[in-house]
Amino acid sequence: MSILLPKYTFGVGDRFAHQAEAQLRACVMAAERGVDVIPVWNKSNREHTIIGSRPASVRKAADRAVDRLGWRKPYFCDADHINFDTVDGFLDACDFYTIDVADWIGKTVDASAFVAKHPELTGELKIPGIDRAFDITKEFVDKTAAKYLAAVTEAGRIYRKIEAAKGKGRFVTEVSKDETDSPQTPAELLIILVAIADEGIPIQTIAPKFTGRFNKGVDYVDDVAQFTTEFSDDIAAIAFAVKNYGLPATLKLSVHSGSDKFSIYEPIRTTLAKFDAGVHVKTAGTNWLEELIGLAEGGGEGLVMAKEIYAEAFDHAEELCKPYATVIDIDPKKLPSPETVNGWTSEQYVSALRHDQKCKEFNPSLRQLLHVGFKIAAKKGNSYLDLLDEYKEEIGRNVTENLFARHIAPLFL
Ligand SMILES: [Zn+2]
Repeated sequence: MSILLPKYTFGVGDRFAHQAEAQLRACVMAAERGVDVIPVWNKSNREHTIIGSRPASVRKAADRAVDRLGWRKPYFCDADHINFDTVDGFLDACDFYTIDVADWIGKTVDASAFVAKHPELTGELKIPGIDRAFDITKEFVDKTAAKYLAAVTEAGRIYRKIEAAKGKGRFVTEVSKDETDSPQTPAELLIILVAIADEGIPIQTIAPKFTGRFNKGVDYVDDVAQFTTEFSDDIAAIAFAVKNYGLPATLKLSVHSGSDKFSIYEPIRTTLAKFDAGVHVKTAGTNWLEELIGLAEGGGEGLVMAKEIYAEAFDHAEELCKPYATVIDIDPKKLPSPETVNGWTSEQYVSALRHDQKCKEFNPSLRQLLHVGFKIAAKKGNSYLDLLDEYKEEIGRNVTENLFARHIAPLFL
């Protein structure tokens, strides 16, 4: 039997593989309230490289948490943003693959065969659930297919490599196109899905790039109404593609949220209800920030470590931020000096970092800097990891509370 992805799945990053149990506890709390939110532990190759970890550690942490809490529902380990070359290391440990083909978008190919095969895409296209009709010209189909076909072909090549290693139906396939410059419109999404169906990829989630900025670890900063329309139209386009092109019935949107897009949670929730649709929401591991919050809250050595990490992140801000330029907006003037932070109490550190928009001490610039600063903690090795064990209770409480109250409850309950 094929592995089918449940309706609501939540991608939880866990940079240092210490919080799986605390994360799973949030899913247990949702289950107790009657809603199954299935955890997917995602970690990209990039992240493994920075931390110096291996995919097997994610599997081990997940299995252990599941065992400890007696979780009887499904759970997954996601090889996040892999490509043909990086997938090998993930073949044993993972059962969910996010095939990243963003680099192949725009490598223009001849799309005439695709256009000839799909005359039904041209003309006035009415998609149930979208009020307006799309007037799609042959040129548009040609242009869109030419732009995305190479990416879809590459996704097929990667999919078949995984299939050869793991066996058909033994894993979940996601295709991601979010790490690219221009967002995909619902009409483009439909054409991409048709190409994916032609390629024979049993895709269960697709991650488009949405309009607007998805900065790491902070809220969505663009037009929520526009996002809502786009999200709703994408869901309609997916349902249409499933019905007409034989894609898996479980196919749903994957929102690579970059974490904490609180202002679009309500529109997501209402739209899902409207279509009775599922969703996969992937977060970018703000759980590591909850580790810092727990350390700071616990005081003593923990607070010292949290301050040290800030000071080093502050000193290396430029190099830490560089790879994330398109997904962070830090105002350098809003960053307190390390001297100032060194004088802070636990409470001051926690209020500046914790994502509570109602709190006037909350500092999004500091939060984003620390978010990309996990490299600093990774370099500290055991002196950081030992503290995670020592402050397990404070950290765990924050990890669970954050995931449940700020994410799972507003999205799914
Ligand atoms: Zn992504």
